[in-house]
Amino acid sequence: MHIPFKKNQFGAYAFFPGTGPKDKRCADCMYCRDPEKKPTCNMVAAFPGRYKSGPIKSGSASCKYFRQR
Ligand code: SF4
Repeated sequence: MHIPFKKNQFGAYAFFPGTGPKDKRCADCMYCRDPEKKPTCNMVAAFPGRYKSGPIKSGSASCKYFRQR
């Protein structure tokens, strides 16, 4: 499996990229905040014990929590 992000970025994604609907990207997801400039995943911030998330790539394949914006 091709991992299109740095290893240390993984925690910034709600779940493994590529586990969501085919041909959908984080940029298409309602949880992706600021997909143009500084994309982050709002779903991660909602997890217990997490208040903010790190940068993601808006072009990453969607994860299982994907919801169409
Ligand atoms: S598909 Fe949505 S929920 Fe999953 S990591 Fe990307 S922005 Fe977050």
